[in-house]
Amino acid sequence: MTTGFLKKIFGSRNQRLIKQYQKTVAIINTLGTQIEQLTNAQLCEKTDEFKRRIADGGSLDKLLPEAFAVCREASHRVLKMRHFDVQLIGGMVLHYGKIAEMRTGEGKTLVATLAAYLNSLSGQGVHIVTVNDYLARRDAEWMGRLYHALGLSVGINLSQMGHNQKQQAYAADITYGTNNEFGFDYLRDNMVYTMDDRVQRGMNFAIIDEVDSILIDEARTPLIISGRGSEEHTELYLRMNALPPLLERQIGEEKADGSGIEKPGDYMLDEKARSVFLTESGYEKAERLLTEWDLISNGESLYSAQNITLIYHAYAALRAHTLFFRDQHYVVQNEVIIVDEFTGRLMPGRRWSDGLHQAVEAKEHVKIQAENQTLASITFQNYFRMYAKLAGMTGTADTEAYEFNEIYGLETVVVPTNRLSKRTDHLDQIYKTAQERYTAVIRDIRNCFEHGQPVLVGTTSIESSELLSQLLKQSGLPHEVLNAKQHAREAAIVAEAGRPNRITIATNMAGRGTDIVLGGNPDMQASLIDESALISNDEKRRRIQQIHDEWQTLHEQVKMAGGLHIIGTERHESRRIDDQLRGRAGRQGDPGSSRFYLSLEDSLLRIFAGDRVRAIMDRLKMPEGEAIEARVVTRSIESAQRKVEARNFDIRKQLLEYDDVANDQRQVIYRKRNELLEVQNIHEMIRLIRHSVLADVVHTYVPANSIEEQWDVQALEEALSNEWQFDLALQEMVNAADTISVDEILGAVIAASDETHEAKVVQVGQEVFSSFERSVMLQTLDARWREHLAAVEHLRQGIHLRGYAQKNPKQEYKREAFELFAAMLDAIKREVTHIIINVQIQTPQQLGVAAKQYEEQVDHVENIEYQNLRYTNCTRVVNTPSRVLAAAITTHTNSELPPNCAVAQSSVAVRDNLYQKVGRNNLCPCGSGKKYKRCHGKLS
Ligand code: ADP
Ligand code: MG
Repeated sequence: MTTGFLKKIFGSRNQRLIKQYQKTVAIINTLGTQIEQLTNAQLCEKTDEFKRRIADGGSLDKLLPEAFAVCREASHRVLKMRHFDVQLIGGMVLHYGKIAEMRTGEGKTLVATLAAYLNSLSGQGVHIVTVNDYLARRDAEWMGRLYHALGLSVGINLSQMGHNQKQQAYAADITYGTNNEFGFDYLRDNMVYTMDDRVQRGMNFAIIDEVDSILIDEARTPLIISGRGSEEHTELYLRMNALPPLLERQIGEEKADGSGIEKPGDYMLDEKARSVFLTESGYEKAERLLTEWDLISNGESLYSAQNITLIYHAYAALRAHTLFFRDQHYVVQNEVIIVDEFTGRLMPGRRWSDGLHQAVEAKEHVKIQAENQTLASITFQNYFRMYAKLAGMTGTADTEAYEFNEIYGLETVVVPTNRLSKRTDHLDQIYKTAQERYTAVIRDIRNCFEHGQPVLVGTTSIESSELLSQLLKQSGLPHEVLNAKQHAREAAIVAEAGRPNRITIATNMAGRGTDIVLGGNPDMQASLIDESALISNDEKRRRIQQIHDEWQTLHEQVKMAGGLHIIGTERHESRRIDDQLRGRAGRQGDPGSSRFYLSLEDSLLRIFAGDRVRAIMDRLKMPEGEAIEARVVTRSIESAQRKVEARNFDIRKQLLEYDDVANDQRQVIYRKRNELLEVQNIHEMIRLIRHSVLADVVHTYVPANSIEEQWDVQALEEALSNEWQFDLALQEMVNAADTISVDEILGAVIAASDETHEAKVVQVGQEVFSSFERSVMLQTLDARWREHLAAVEHLRQGIHLRGYAQKNPKQEYKREAFELFAAMLDAIKREVTHIIINVQIQTPQQLGVAAKQYEEQVDHVENIEYQNLRYTNCTRVVNTPSRVLAAAITTHTNSELPPNCAVAQSSVAVRDNLYQKVGRNNLCPCGSGKKYKRCHGKLS
């Protein structure tokens, strides 16, 4: 109540910000009249002047009005578009590191130029992030004319580019590219072996277009670079293969009162959900067997951190034996080939992940191929939070304003539209069955078609697009289908979606970013003529004029017919996605309309709002084929969406909490790595590492602060001789001395090590030896880090099983991940020291050979793959030459993956009150296809 009252007095924060920005708009408008007088050359010189002022300590904020006025004038001259006042406001929102919510068609591409121009003046680079390569190129080329007129350079960062091209793209004042590509470049830059191999030059300012889809929708799918790893686990798969046949299946499940088990056993199988779990007795039995087979040391538990890999392999073997059957899920033709469940087709080259494929290979006694290893990964949250300043723009941010603020510290500002919207949003129509709903949709489409109105039909999946397309074909209605598969081609189709009688079906991401102009897009048609060199210039001009004239007629015709009509065939989980669909109509004051058609069979209604709506329908005694259309129903659907949104937010937040641990560790390793590349005196670093390692060795046998009776000098002498190649007569030294301290012993060992080390350095020269040291250190760091990533991933996947032991999984995860990390750092030090002490050389050539051998020993990752991990249990292996650096690569986007890949469920178990209504044995509402109790209900 109070807030409402205070709002009335002071205005909402949004209104206040807008008001404040409007004052600056007035200043920019005034400045504009002077700037209009400048010649093109003078206008361009302004950039240099601004740069000087910034270099001399001027602030960007102070420069804003002038810089915006210059940018606007240049745009007017070269692009024939003068930034509207509201676009100036949008530009300010971006400059101040916030999110500008500006509706579709408000011209956000142009808005970004203002903030990009201003911020590039500091010379530290600006990144403009788009959702696909097509848009990156389009925007860079389109807006590039403006930047060039202002004397700025523009780069495009595309996935297929080589190293030099990328470096150039990043060196530009302003760089356009996709979120995936920026993220992968960051990861790759932290895998290089010399500083020159890096492509990025810092993270100064990023403007993210369609920010909601990048920072929210894609936030559950980290970027992963992976490669075929070593064969070392082969043995383990073979041995683990013996385990499942010794375990017995349990029938029935224990209920709260202890009843329910029909036949006790070692594992429970849920064939429908395709999952298998060890029971308590199964754990005990597995632990006992693995101890017998010497896979677990005596007295150790299967639960303990060092045995994570064993649990992982045990489960892989168990799944391979109990859930995957020959000639049903796969066939064996010298290798294991997956059979597509839906089509029955063989899918050679595709492999199951999570060790499953290897486990099946072990079961079928075919050659076990190396597993995929993660080389590096990062979530978008953690990537974008590294920028010194971050901003975003989208048509739909307000519903997610809380999350933007909470996770990214980004405030959302709703910018008013340039012209008043004239779109009519009709109430939802709800039918009892999906069948009736489709009949109504087709009726509406036909109606539009018959009176010449273009219609855009949005669907939530490729399958429903295809179903609808089928129905339209049967009804004889011509149409286009877009599935967000080929961005450039689909953009061309969507650009024409505003022509009379057009029917276009699109999934929600398809054609995003492309403007739908009523009557079609004359510029796009004209550009085709521009490119063809066969006709004279006069002829070209005449034809372009003709296109524009024709367009004018079509434009009026479509306006008369009511503008673009939007049909939603289902409500999406999130209101934001629905708003986006609606937003495609009614741009810049155009007429337009929208309507959603739902059915009680839609999963959203079924799970979250079905009972209520059904009750209303029953009360109204709705006859077959009729719909209800009432505000109260639309409202209860919205509240259902709100619940799902909250749940999804929780999942993303949980994922982030888990990723934060990995992120801290990643930053430590990357910092270390960069230090290694940059530091001149690596020698000193290695010396300190050696000393600390030798101190550990000495203290193992001769503990610090101990007395002589506790020492085992003989054993120390042997260890040093066997493992570290030092033949020191320590026992003699101790016997000979009257008194001797631990430190003196250590001192003798260290002195000896320094001496042998120096002797090696002298033999080949400081410089050569340093580069050997650097390379050993980098290789070891990378190899151990890779293993660590795998270990932590296994830990994360298995951690919810600890629920049995009544521990808080997140805490446990943090603690154990930290332990693993500390152990890894120790292992790196020890290994580096070991290699450098043991290398036997006389000439620089021999050192080269030694370095090469070591490289081969640690670095055998092949077939590098880049994934945006939206799908699990299914990766396609790309055969590329080995070597991290030489990676010429494919990116997996979700659209390229086959439809039968299960959507990745974060294995983060979520406790969620919203789920309380869902029965434990029902399917989980998240859509995983698993039972609720096996999925999100696991911990509740
Ligand atoms: P959004 O990304 O906000 O949906 P776009 O950047 O795709 O919008 O722009 C939509 C259309 O508006 C484009 O065709 C563009 O040419 C046009 N436009 C944007 N700003 C202006 C302007 N200031 N004057 C004239 N046309 C503009
Ligand atoms: Mg756009």
